[in-house]
Amino acid sequence: IFNFAAGPATLPESVILKAQAELYNYHGSGMSIMEMSHRGKEFDAVIKKAESDLRLLLGISDDYAVLFLQGGATTQFAAVPLNLCAPGDSADFVVTGSWSDKAFKEAQKFCKANLIWSGKSEKYTKIPAFDDLKQNPDAKFLHICGNETIHGVEFKNYPSPSNKNALLVADMSSNFCSKPVDVSKFGLIYAGAQKNVGPSGVTIAIVRKDLIGNAQPITPVMLDYKIHADSASLYNTPPCFAIYICALVFEDLLEQGGLAGVEKKNQKKAGILYDTIDESNGYYVCPVEKSVRSLMNVPFTLKKSDLEKKFIEEAAKEGMVQLKGHRSVGGVRASIYNAMPFAGVEKLVAFMKDFQARHP
Ligand code: PLP
Repeated sequence: IFNFAAGPATLPESVILKAQAELYNYHGSGMSIMEMSHRGKEFDAVIKKAESDLRLLLGISDDYAVLFLQGGATTQFAAVPLNLCAPGDSADFVVTGSWSDKAFKEAQKFCKANLIWSGKSEKYTKIPAFDDLKQNPDAKFLHICGNETIHGVEFKNYPSPSNKNALLVADMSSNFCSKPVDVSKFGLIYAGAQKNVGPSGVTIAIVRKDLIGNAQPITPVMLDYKIHADSASLYNTPPCFAIYICALVFEDLLEQGGLAGVEKKNQKKAGILYDTIDESNGYYVCPVEKSVRSLMNVPFTLKKSDLEKKFIEEAAKEGMVQLKGHRSVGGVRASIYNAMPFAGVEKLVAFMKDFQARHP
């Protein structure tokens, strides 16, 4: 089966098999990692290795804390303004799709959130040039979503905010660890794990240390980065199993040679899929502007929209599942995260060409 789900999503087969082999008796302990104390030596080694491997993968310096949190990326929509803004401070939001829109709306409860760019009128098919953004001089941060999972638009570079006092903050849930990123450009990066790096249940935040410790007084302890940084993500019971799988994925990505190589593989996979769409004489249509098309989530429609259901059903019969577009936009969406093998995308494009020939 090739699983094109947007998340929770396919994980590397080698990781699943390793977890399966270790599940009953972790490292000779007679227990599974799910059954152990989060303060025991086995889990301590797991979470430390997860952090150090992630630091290696993304080149994260000691100026940043790496936090393993709960509540999904959705909880970060509140945690970010609560930690980075004093009551009444303002922050700028760029809305490129449904996820950044949710972040913007949640932030309005905890800071003065300014919408400085929205792609809504163009159905979220574009990413703005940073030079064109009118950033507010008093904004504490500029929030973007690195990759919009539903609409398939992705930032291809991340320049610093023009306002020197503002921090760049990114939701990278759906393109985390899919390519190298210069972390030093960011005040904060957060990502739910369940697309590229693990199962659902853990959210990773990479936070510049000097920003930690100024949360608004109303901030619940579970949303305060200082609480989690001071206790090395072990303030309360963490999602142990999810962190363990992330550790295996990070190890696997390092064994593959790191994120530069991973990005090349992702470009190759996305390349053959977009080419197939663009060379179909309008049979398949991807509405996203070419220069900002996502390497991770490829949404497309069929010119004959009444054939979409058949397309999805026939693909599923051939072992390509979860291709239905998000309920808010319809159509087809192929999510091709790191763990989707090239062979899966090759099979999909062969199917697309065959389907077109059979249903002209
Ligand atoms: N941000 C992006 C870009 C997402 O794709 C998602 C979920 O798909 C979220 C945020 C919300 O994540 P969670 O379900 O972990 O709260």
